[in-house]
Amino acid sequence: MRKPIMAANWKMNKNIQEALDFAQDIEDAASLANQVETVVCPPFTCLPAIAAALEAKGVVLGAQNLYPADQGAFTGEISAGMLKEIGVDFCIIGHSERRQYFNETDETVNKKVIAALDAPLRPILCVGETLEQREMGITFDLVAMQVKAALYGVAEGLMGNVVIAYEPVWAIGTGKTATPEDAQDVCKAIRAVIAGVYNDTVAKATSILYGGSMNDKNAADLLARPDIDGGLIGGASLKPDSFAVIVNAANQ
Ligand code: PEP
Repeated sequence: MRKPIMAANWKMNKNIQEALDFAQDIEDAASLANQVETVVCPPFTCLPAIAAALEAKGVVLGAQNLYPADQGAFTGEISAGMLKEIGVDFCIIGHSERRQYFNETDETVNKKVIAALDAPLRPILCVGETLEQREMGITFDLVAMQVKAALYGVAEGLMGNVVIAYEPVWAIGTGKTATPEDAQDVCKAIRAVIAGVYNDTVAKATSILYGGSMNDKNAADLLARPDIDGGLIGGASLKPDSFAVIVNAANQ
């Protein structure tokens, strides 16, 4: 069985003190750790500062980005190995905000997935369509292409570390959530893509999350769908109380 993964994406929010306050206030996830994997992905600056406090609460550390080289003349960038060194286990890769504002392409996303797995970090690979693409009826083709391109060259034996997050771009930070049925349909289609590229065993073992305005009201309904194995949560993960309700919804 796939263990639900509930990951907070704080984006560019919280200074170190605010992050420490969150780590202190968040409900202890250690008792849930056998049922649900809880991950917090703060800004880089907060990672070392809250690592110990989160660990004490049974919460795992994730980053929001990496650069796909070990070291070198890449001013301003941070490698997967550097993240690993400070206790990071997960890394969000290919978030739509990075694709939109920082020109990340399927090719760069593929390089980052490979660099993450090499560290090893567990990539949370984000895919999803814009509203225009949904209206054009190309959601399934587009998401399939994003998944295949991102996983190009990833060996079957490494797939146990890959997490995929289906995040319709029109649902991110907008308060508009995909219906549980629509989210389930796309997550199911992603699983079929994995089965095609690898096999049924790999597809059944791969964690596929939903992200896009998930909150304490809609989480349970989304998480009840058979192919939705957890959530990537932005805005609603900034407050420890609402994040705890969402995490607990994965344990029903
Ligand atoms: C996200 O940034 O990955 C996200 C899902 O954001 P929000 O929950 O705010 O829509």
